[in-house]
Amino acid sequence: MLREQAAAQLAGFATNMPPDELKKTADRLAVYLNPDGEFSDDDRARKRGIWLGQQGPDLMSSLTGLIDPKLRAYLEPMFAKLAAPGMCTPEDDSPAVDGEPNEDEAQRDTRSMGQRRHDAVQAMCRGLLASGELGQHRGLPVTVIVSTTLRELTEQAGPAATAGGSLLPIRNLIRLAAHANHHLAVFDDIDNRPLCLGRAKRIASPDQRIVLHARDTGCSFPGCTVPGYPAEAHHIREWADGGPTDIDNLTFACPAHHKLAGRGADQWHTTAGPRSHTRWHPPIHVDPRQRPRVNHFHHPSEVLVAGDDGATGNDSTGPP
Ligand SMILES: [Zn+2]
Repeated sequence: MLREQAAAQLAGFATNMPPDELKKTADRLAVYLNPDGEFSDDDRARKRGIWLGQQGPDLMSSLTGLIDPKLRAYLEPMFAKLAAPGMCTPEDDSPAVDGEPNEDEAQRDTRSMGQRRHDAVQAMCRGLLASGELGQHRGLPVTVIVSTTLRELTEQAGPAATAGGSLLPIRNLIRLAAHANHHLAVFDDIDNRPLCLGRAKRIASPDQRIVLHARDTGCSFPGCTVPGYPAEAHHIREWADGGPTDIDNLTFACPAHHKLAGRGADQWHTTAGPRSHTRWHPPIHVDPRQRPRVNHFHHPSEVLVAGDDGATGNDSTGPP
């Protein structure tokens, strides 16, 4: 009944409304008339998603998605405030995120709407991370963890690696570090940290995790590409065999590969290798000769140098 009324009403509009305006009115009306009809909450729940693409050679990543009405409702006021001209401008050392931008700042802002929204999302994430409200993840505050070397930092050369498995230009890193209390693990600082906890504690300390982020970057199992954030600290010499919780006896392993490691004949054994790389020794059913393997995936610069660690390289055969 309502539909017929609406159709008659629209037909009436059609005589004196420009076509594009008529279409907008009709579309809007359709949404009102059929709020739960053909599209259910289940449909929306199934379709929802946000996908982050691989980093390109320019280190940019594509972000696509389909968001539900609730997330859109959250984003709208955020964008209205933070993506307004003059807000969250990236060139500013202290970009406006509070209050209103002044007329002058808004006038000078030449960013497109897409660019302003990008900067708004960046400001939202930075604010949330800096607030500390996200608590902890695997014993470390939820924050950006980046590893680099002192030389790269001072020469501002090369990209730094994040514990999420992406690359960040050093200049970006320096700006980012200036903003908040992110953890920056610089290799040459390792000696200053209390790393040898002996047998007092089985669980790796937050300091040790930071060093693992810097040293291993991701899972040390041969061929594994899992980055540091989800990785677990594995005792290279098993805790059950008396292995201490010292940084030299710890390595990153993703949950799937951590399960493969153990003392049994059908499990992988780990030993410390040169340059702090963990050697994974396969069980006989994977390799009758049980040749140890190391993971070079997280250390691309080393692949350019001929391997001298006496272990076969980035080999992904064996269990997943
Ligand atoms: Zn792994």
